[in-house]
Amino acid sequence: MLVVMQSNATEEQVRAVCERIESLGLKAHAIPGTGRTAIGITGNSGAVDLGTLESFPGVIECIPVTKPYKLVSRDVKKEDSVIKISTPSGDVFVGGQHIAMVAGPCAVETEEQCFTIAEQLQSTGVKLFRGGAYKPRTSPYSFQGLGLSGLKILSMVRKKYGFGIVTEAIDNESLDLVEEYADVIQIGARNMQNFSLLKRAGRAKLPVLLKRGMSATLDEFLMAAEYILSEGNYNVMLCERGVRTFSDFSRNTLDLAVVPAVKKRSHLPILVDPSHGTGKRHKVLPLSRAAIAVGADGLLVEVHHQPEKALSDGIQSILPSEYAELMREVQQIAQVLRRHLN
Ligand code: PEP
Ligand code: MN
Repeated sequence: MLVVMQSNATEEQVRAVCERIESLGLKAHAIPGTGRTAIGITGNSGAVDLGTLESFPGVIECIPVTKPYKLVSRDVKKEDSVIKISTPSGDVFVGGQHIAMVAGPCAVETEEQCFTIAEQLQSTGVKLFRGGAYKPRTSPYSFQGLGLSGLKILSMVRKKYGFGIVTEAIDNESLDLVEEYADVIQIGARNMQNFSLLKRAGRAKLPVLLKRGMSATLDEFLMAAEYILSEGNYNVMLCERGVRTFSDFSRNTLDLAVVPAVKKRSHLPILVDPSHGTGKRHKVLPLSRAAIAVGADGLLVEVHHQPEKALSDGIQSILPSEYAELMREVQQIAQVLRRHLN
């Protein structure tokens, strides 16, 4: 159920409706838009009988929501959500007119590795630095990440270079730590349907970058995001990172068509990861151009100064100098679309 408020409804009127909803043991999510505030209701197991709610002052109408997701839906909010990421060098916005770029190594390996990459990335204009301290690897014998000491290295990068930090949490324990050290919590493809982790991310204070599971349908992807919003964290960015298909020339098939499909159904921003999406260095630039052209709200790109020595995903990592060229090119594409790159 969705309660649509009049555009001139007062804060008290919105609060009164929320209190009524909560008095019934349900959860009210007031989502302000430019034209109106909509209040999503969760916590119900079937149709909600809210009786007199439509007669509350300031209410236009109550609409039943039949889709399996509600808070992520365009029905709740017509305009694009713009997510704010606080970084030591100022706020970075994602969504609407704003395109956010994220770059850095697949994994945090050493302080020297991260500092070298961060130093070279600084002049490209990118504001968000990525790097996994917890690596969910397919083989238990592959490098699993440095854990807490990796997070400490990231926080030094944050301090020294002013980048906002995007890093993955793989379970509730690592999420507690990521929340302490980073600026964005990444939930990886392999955990897209780890529902207890999604709920924990929904109670976190930081924005969440949710990657699409490697065989997730669009509805499954949106419902995973719904888990996070339903717990009260509305700052969610989606990320397309390629899906499994019969195609055998790429690590994954980057599903760029999902970008306009998400935009039709949801107000949430969607980034694209051309690195995991293709698995090959030479495909990262062309697919980055295409992603921005198709309407992506940002790119997540793996960059390493010595890809041949990387402990993970060297084959798909580009050099900092190649990333600088990527920034120049996508900047021009963004301009055509009258969007700002940050
Ligand atoms: C990553 O971005 O570090 C990562 C592990 O990607 P994915 O979860 O998409 O495989
Ligand atoms: Mn990787």
